[in-house]
Amino acid sequence: MKDKGILVVVSGFSGAGKGTLMKRLLQEYDNYALSISMTTRLPREGEQDGRDYFFVTKEAFEDRIAKDGLIEFASYCGNYYGTPKEYVEQQLAAGKDVILEIEIQGALKVRERFPKALLLFVMPPTSKELERRLAGRGTESPEQIQRRLERASEEAEGIECYDYIIVNDDLETCTKELHSIIRAAHGTPGRNEAFIENMRQELKALVKGEK
Ligand code: 5GP
Repeated sequence: MKDKGILVVVSGFSGAGKGTLMKRLLQEYDNYALSISMTTRLPREGEQDGRDYFFVTKEAFEDRIAKDGLIEFASYCGNYYGTPKEYVEQQLAAGKDVILEIEIQGALKVRERFPKALLLFVMPPTSKELERRLAGRGTESPEQIQRRLERASEEAEGIECYDYIIVNDDLETCTKELHSIIRAAHGTPGRNEAFIENMRQELKALVKGEK
């Protein structure tokens, strides 16, 4: 009677620490599956195809779009990023809460297509800290950092579309908070329609003396 897993969208400015947070969430708790996105951007130092992303050509990406193989996709800082459909559907059906770590345009498309998705936005404690983390990562050029900060400023305009914001100051606290929010979301009436409807039917039957 329990509803299937929840589709959880996690967005946040580049450099807000989402990647580390997701890794920790999956290490600490069992019930999550992390979707691996497809992208046309080049791998960063240390990134692996099939683990961090499926790195593909523009042609392969567009072919996937044409075959309706993506739940959503968006263009971000000159590259395509998208969520492959099959894995997400399988994991949700198996009762897992599936995490999509995606940017805001994609998040809004997910909300349209899956109104029961839970949308979370990870924020750094301050804008200066964001700049520090982006520079400290050492994987982007100053121009790319500038582009990502500009993008963060644009994305900040859309935060109200999300259900919750989570401030990533301390990793442990933030991981627990994220997990608690997702657990709590399992208890909303909108995510338990079948259970509620069954209860109603049973109560009606009981009142009539049928059971
Ligand atoms: P990065 O290049 O730093 O790995 O990712 C850039 C941005 O793209 C991040 O905000 C990340 O969350 C987002 N992103 C990663 N995968 C996807 C995806 O499948 N769809 C969308 N819409 N955004 C994605």
